[in-house]
Amino acid sequence: MKVYVDNAATTKMSKVAINAMLPYMDKVYGNPSSLHSVGQEAAENLNVARQTIADILGCEAREITFTSGGSEADNQAIVSAARFGERKGKKHIISTAFEHHAVLHTLAKLEKEGFEVTLLDVGEKGLVTAKQVAENIRPDTCLVTIMYANNEIGTIQPISEIGEVCKERGVIFHTDAVQAVGHIHINVKEQNIDMLSLSAHKFHGPKGIGVLYSRKGIMLTNIIEGGAQERGKRAGTENIPAIMGMVAALKDANDHIDDNGKKLTAMRDRLIEGLLEIPHSILNGDGEKRLPGNVNLCFEGVEGESLLLLLDDKGVYASSGSACTSGSLDPSHVLLAIGRPHEVAHGSLRLSLSEENTSEEVEYIIKAVKEVVEYLRGISPVWRDLQNGKREYVIG
Ligand SMILES: *Cc1c(COP(=O)(O)O)cnc(C)c1O
Repeated sequence: MKVYVDNAATTKMSKVAINAMLPYMDKVYGNPSSLHSVGQEAAENLNVARQTIADILGCEAREITFTSGGSEADNQAIVSAARFGERKGKKHIISTAFEHHAVLHTLAKLEKEGFEVTLLDVGEKGLVTAKQVAENIRPDTCLVTIMYANNEIGTIQPISEIGEVCKERGVIFHTDAVQAVGHIHINVKEQNIDMLSLSAHKFHGPKGIGVLYSRKGIMLTNIIEGGAQERGKRAGTENIPAIMGMVAALKDANDHIDDNGKKLTAMRDRLIEGLLEIPHSILNGDGEKRLPGNVNLCFEGVEGESLLLLLDDKGVYASSGSACTSGSLDPSHVLLAIGRPHEVAHGSLRLSLSEENTSEEVEYIIKAVKEVVEYLRGISPVWRDLQNGKREYVIG
């Protein structure tokens, strides 16, 4: 059996998305900035696409900027809000310790320029509260940036409550919603979200395309200079085929969001139940306030990378959700943020489901993980020490 359960890293493109792209590679190939009719045909289709995205998010078409993906949208949102605040002498930003690196690294760059960043504690459950946000807002706070759903442990933050607090206090609220869009219901106006990032390849659309929603009135700062595309705020000829694929994928995801959510939640909960039968294992992140397709556990006395390689041999394609993928041996900053000690954080496994997965696959995964964990513990000196009482278990 071959089971892909790394959908938080990327998804397979849907047929709907692929078919939506094809005509824009050969038939409607014009540059929307060209004045002739070939270009204008592309421009008209681009307008429709922009309006469709705006309708789905609950905003206006002119509040949508197409970007090269989630990372660019995060960078532009944060830099824009920082520059906007700076002009009024506001140089304090609130975020959390477990954001995506596209957010954390952008914040680190601003810190070097003299901005002050408060990273809220996300607690053992991987959740922040609107109260924490309220307590940390200062007169010089220019931005609150908190992810909608965490990409490693799947926890969903109280975005509407945070949005309300920010609105009351007049602070710009940005959310990295890359893991949430297409998977849970979002309406930016109802939820008082000022800026939002999304990325198509996390909901069965193409890679390299995303959106920055930015409420009108917030001045965007260019991070790519050049032509006057995207109201002069993001230069570069629009990637029309990718935009069309993204729109089709988003419509499709949104049309099936409730049914997919139910199916995924059932598979997720069965996986969690089955895997927690493994002794000395623990779920990472809140069990309820989490994405329908996210499972993330730690197994004591197991090394995450070995776990992944042996699962790969069994045809299970998962992730540790940690930074080992980048070649560094540091454990995941997300697992450290929820208080997992280093040695436990190294033994993590993230399974991120898509609606294409089946309950047979779920049972196969449970069996495969149980076998691999047992095998790895059998050859682990750490596990031997734990069993002999020379070391103490961290996971009870
Ligand atoms: C994938 C991801 C990103 C980056 O999006 P790209 O389109 O790959 O640049 C940012 N934030 C989160 C939460 C993500 O999961």
